[in-house]
Amino acid sequence: MTSGTTQVGPFELQPLGFGYADLEPVIDKATMKLHHGKHHQGYIDKLNAVLETNPDWSGLNIGELLTRLPEIPESIQKTVREQGGGHVNHQFFWKTLAPAGTSAPSKTLTEEIDKAFGSFEAFKEKFETAGVAHFGSGWVHLICWPEQDFKLEIITLPNQDSLYEKAPTARGLLICDLWEHAYYLKYQNRRAEWLSHWWDVVNWTEVSKRLSAARSGLAEV
Ligand code: MN
Repeated sequence: MTSGTTQVGPFELQPLGFGYADLEPVIDKATMKLHHGKHHQGYIDKLNAVLETNPDWSGLNIGELLTRLPEIPESIQKTVREQGGGHVNHQFFWKTLAPAGTSAPSKTLTEEIDKAFGSFEAFKEKFETAGVAHFGSGWVHLICWPEQDFKLEIITLPNQDSLYEKAPTARGLLICDLWEHAYYLKYQNRRAEWLSHWWDVVNWTEVSKRLSAARSGLAEV
């Protein structure tokens, strides 16, 4: 997903491609600092700690670990699902963010969005509605299905469940964090407001690249 996709344990927090204050006013600096430096780092630390005690599983990258969850010893499976999922979901999230006005959707992405949802505005509305309707913590995703002619779909997953486990044949294009830690400092309990403002800091260039990689049969980068 990022350069971290091929990384094997012990996992390391990847630097953002921008500063903590660069997504203001949509995402405030304090939220970014805590979210990246503490929350994401926390998932990585806990994942590394269990892998250190289970060296048989320490040579796998994060996608392999989450795809092979059923084979992982029961004593560490829950931790790998939760902390590994937390790591990979955040890695994906950071990569699909960018300072406002620095990215644009490709022609192909725009066409596919129109085809699946009717219009860009209708897509955004459906994505926001799905995020608001999701009960509790989790993530809202835009994915495509290579086996269905790369058809786009919006799905939500609870907690830190990952696409690797829950939709392994799908390709993730865009993800938004529904955990309160992602928005509470600025938006408090107003998740709908968070989701409606968040569009301004979506990295459309990266989302377009992900769709084009999927359509070309290239691995995630
Ligand atoms: Mn988060």
